[in-house]
Amino acid sequence: MVLIAPSPAAAPAAGRVPARNPNDPPSLIGLSRPQLGEALLEAGVAERQVRMRTAQLWNWLYLRGATDFAAMGNIAKDLRERLADRFTLARPEIVTEQVSSDGTRKWLLRFPPRGAGRAVEAEAVYIPEEGRGTLCVSSQVGCTLTCSFCHTGTQTMVRNLTVEEILGQLLVARDRLGDFPAGDVAPGAMVPSEGRKVSNIVMMGMGEPLYNFENVRDALLIASDGDGLSLSKRRITLSTSGVVPMIPRAGAEIGTMLAISLHAVRDELRDVLVPINKKYPIAELLAACRAYPGLNNAKRITFEYVMLRDVNDSLADARELVRLLKGIPAKINLIPFNPWPGTGYECSDWEQIERFADLVNEAGYASPIRTPRGRDILAACGQLKSESERLRARERLALEAMIPVGEG
Ligand code: SAH
Ligand code: SF4
Repeated sequence: MVLIAPSPAAAPAAGRVPARNPNDPPSLIGLSRPQLGEALLEAGVAERQVRMRTAQLWNWLYLRGATDFAAMGNIAKDLRERLADRFTLARPEIVTEQVSSDGTRKWLLRFPPRGAGRAVEAEAVYIPEEGRGTLCVSSQVGCTLTCSFCHTGTQTMVRNLTVEEILGQLLVARDRLGDFPAGDVAPGAMVPSEGRKVSNIVMMGMGEPLYNFENVRDALLIASDGDGLSLSKRRITLSTSGVVPMIPRAGAEIGTMLAISLHAVRDELRDVLVPINKKYPIAELLAACRAYPGLNNAKRITFEYVMLRDVNDSLADARELVRLLKGIPAKINLIPFNPWPGTGYECSDWEQIERFADLVNEAGYASPIRTPRGRDILAACGQLKSESERLRARERLALEAMIPVGEG
């Protein structure tokens, strides 16, 4: 593992990227086009120019990844100055950036306090693959759910991330990977979306995206906007533990690919592994999946299944999985369990995972076994938990140990 402290020298060619500061004015990142228009009106842009200026700004923010108003050559200097007085384009602060021996990168990002709260931290992970790369994005700091095999589930929920903060993870990744076009692209030029380092997004970081629905929706709509970040909805996957009432809204209002954290084929076991199952049992979850719009052979739901030794990995489980998913255009993703300190679960034996996969494959399902990536930097699925939370807990314990009994 290599731990790189964020340094200007390692920043992309565009130069040093400013980090968000609690005293900054509001950000323009995350605003919808109408909201951006309002911001421009407020900055003194004439009503008849708002549309054009909004389009220019959108292009600077999302297509070119501008972090400084001064760089916006096609916008008049006095307007750039007025915008810079009122708004920021700063990114979340990079607390640490870790690079795994397999090229996986993990960023711990700090977001300024909101209201009376305190600054919070969340992680994003970039997984490079041949000809593509996937960014795993967090939707919340912590999680209200308590899936028994998930490290994030042991962290108390702190808060939802805002649209700005969800998009901020993508912008930081593109900044750090040099994935925005170089500064010499002519204003207004189209930049191809193919060949980008971040070609896919999965909402599989910390948190339950469907419990932060509006912010996740608005962020993903901006990420998939063809005039900006341009990630096709086919390349964005929203993963849910099974918040059944929100699945139809996800289909209608977001329309990305869907992944379901199934992990068990019987309610008694799923109640333990994914406790939201007590509220929305398997049959209801699968009914919502069947009704997800636009499903066909090219647009399938991914069912995630974590392989836990002697818990859910029998061949009877595999057969039941195949039976349950009958009629749903589905992919099955077998995830070797990623252990974390203090967990009581173990990963299934490799031979058992393969036997399980063979059975599922024979039934006609593609069932890739997800290769664990970034294990040396605790970057794999379900291992994300903000370092500062751990430190704070440790500091608290140290502090408690110092307070004499009776005075605490
Ligand atoms: N809350 C959402 C998305 C984040 S979790 C959800 O539960 O779907 C992303 C995926 O990682 C989920 O499928 C989750 O079940 C899985 N996961 C969690 N902990 C894991 C672990 N320790 N090993 C392997 N996968 C894990
Ligand atoms: Fe939350 Fe997903 Fe982890 Fe469950 S698996 S605790 S829903 S992050």
